Amino acid sequence: MTTNAVHWFPAYIGLGSNLNGPARQLESAFDRLAEIPKTRLLCQSSLYRSAPFGGVEQPNFVNAAAVLLTRLPAVDLLRELQRIEKQCGRKPGKVRWGPRVLDLDLLVYSDQRIDDPGLIVPHPGIAERNFVLLPLQEIAPGLSVPGLGLVKRIRANLNEPEISCIG
Ligand code: AMP
Repeated sequence: MTTNAVHWFPAYIGLGSNLNGPARQLESAFDRLAEIPKTRLLCQSSLYRSAPFGGVEQPNFVNAAAVLLTRLPAVDLLRELQRIEKQCGRKPGKVRWGPRVLDLDLLVYSDQRIDDPGLIVPHPGIAERNFVLLPLQEIAPGLSVPGLGLVKRIRANLNEPEISCIG
């Protein structure tokens, strides 16, 4: 007997912006995430304010996280995230950790571990950044990140300043 089962995969997205009205950029990004084909937006976190990472002088960031359910493979989902970044006016930046209208990262995709040119999952920055972990913990407290363990436990091991929830 053949089955035509449709597989839906949970995908966790990190959002960040520090240009052109960051909170508004993230609200618009949530709307666009909900419109990705073969994908549902299940949950979005509150918005958090964080100091810039990486020593570049620039405005504070606003960060958030979202949970999607998707039938797209991870690489196609990343392409959709990059399309949204471009639509929102993101220009290819020359400065690593520099200012940006919108940054969308594929943090976790189901239980998969991917190490391809152009796509690393879980996202390699997860374990180092409170501005990723705190919103993620808000919407997925029981999430175990492949290779790293529970979000809550990763956060407990992180020696980083707290960030503030702005609603
Ligand atoms: P960023 O400037 O932080 O947005 O980095 C964008 C680059 O990271 C792109 O070239 C992506 O192909 C690459 N990349 C690798 N893994 C990921 C991931 N899990 N999520 C988002 N971008 C990724």
